Amino acid sequence: MAFVIDGKKISNDIKDELKEKVAALKEEGIEITLAVIQVGNDPASSIYVGNKKKACEYIGINSLSYELPETTTQEELVALVKQLNENDEVNGILVQLPLPKHMNEELIIRTISPRKDVDGFHPQNVGALSIGQKGFVSCTPAGIIELLKRSGITIEGKECVIIGRSNIVGKPMSMLMLRENATVTICHSKTKNLKEVAKRADILIVAIGKPRFVTADYVKEGAVVIDVGIHRDENNKSFGDVDYADVYDHVSAITPVPGGVGPMTIAMLMKNCVDAAMQNQ
Ligand code: NAP
Repeated sequence: MAFVIDGKKISNDIKDELKEKVAALKEEGIEITLAVIQVGNDPASSIYVGNKKKACEYIGINSLSYELPETTTQEELVALVKQLNENDEVNGILVQLPLPKHMNEELIIRTISPRKDVDGFHPQNVGALSIGQKGFVSCTPAGIIELLKRSGITIEGKECVIIGRSNIVGKPMSMLMLRENATVTICHSKTKNLKEVAKRADILIVAIGKPRFVTADYVKEGAVVIDVGIHRDENNKSFGDVDYADVYDHVSAITPVPGGVGPMTIAMLMKNCVDAAMQNQ
């Protein structure tokens, strides 16, 4: 029977550990503050922002909320980010993506101070990850490493295949798995013989954004399968990039959707905020 990796429990454990750490820092007079900026009122973004604020509250991190109208100009947003960069009371800055079409996301990400870039998207942090230096790491891939480690799954020496090469999941994931001494293959839409390549994996990480794309014929018997995808059916029930029911009998461990990778992203964001405050001491 497959071991179901419980992302909800693991993320709650991490949040509880952080809560204790934050309380101890408070006793030393250290407060942690995250600035959260949302431009426009995209409903999905509002839910994500709301969940991030809730997590801050639970852990004891102050959150400063900036809800800007859709009509905000890029110059106004840049000015706000620069002002938060200069504010010593702000440890982390998060700009909820996607931004409205009239804004250049790359420019906004570059404007955030790398020391406050708790999403780990700034090119300096991305570069640091690829050359093995310290820096903030993108939260979803960082969360997947925690899921594997806390589930007692050995990474070192394993064949890891990652399907998807996005800047926020696939690419940083590959760097993290390499750092953990896995042998890493990255696949994308131009990969030939995807099924055969995926079947080499001891650990298969799927981040392609295609509903139930990965079926049993992509999976080696006994592999560990990590499903990053999030989709919703007509009843608003979420499911992943992996056909869970189809692969379940063939894997040794698997993350469910919901309750697998999803909850880890916010937990790791909170960890990055605590790390941001510690690095400034
Ligand atoms: P993305 O930016 O759309 O990237 C998708 C990647 O999959 C691309 O590299 C693409 O290849 C590749 N791909 C697409 N179709 C493919 C195919 N048929 N065969 C092989 N590769 C294919 O997606 P993302 O931002 O990484 O997100 C992926 C999924 O994870 C989405 O469902 C998203 O909602 C979810 N997600 C979840 C979390 C979480 O917290 N759990 C966080 C982030 C994302 P090319 O590069 O060649 O186009």
